[in-house]
Amino acid sequence: MSQDEYNNIEVTDVESVAIQSMDPLEQIKHAAEKFDVKLNDPNPNCRHCYGRGYTGKRKTGEPIACVCIQPKMNEATKFAYENRQMVARNRKERRFASKQFKKNSKKVK
Ligand SMILES: [Zn+2]
Repeated sequence: MSQDEYNNIEVTDVESVAIQSMDPLEQIKHAAEKFDVKLNDPNPNCRHCYGRGYTGKRKTGEPIACVCIQPKMNEATKFAYENRQMVARNRKERRFASKQFKKNSKKVK
């Protein structure tokens, strides 16, 4: 291992330790920054998280962000979501998809 590689590993280790010692909300904010996502401030009257900004923790320890701090879907995302198509990956799904298609085409007539 070269010295450069060794240094890289050490930086990520330090970072992960730093993240683990952070507040759950800070962890979410840190991750959001990394992925360039803007978060809202937690809603103190939120009935899901009671203002904590997260609803729980996964087994791996990472906090689950509450809906109140996640930005609303923008129009483009909404459009893509509503117009998403199911891609059949296996025989069962293909059959299901063709059944749905028949059902829907009957409705039109
Ligand atoms: Zn909330």
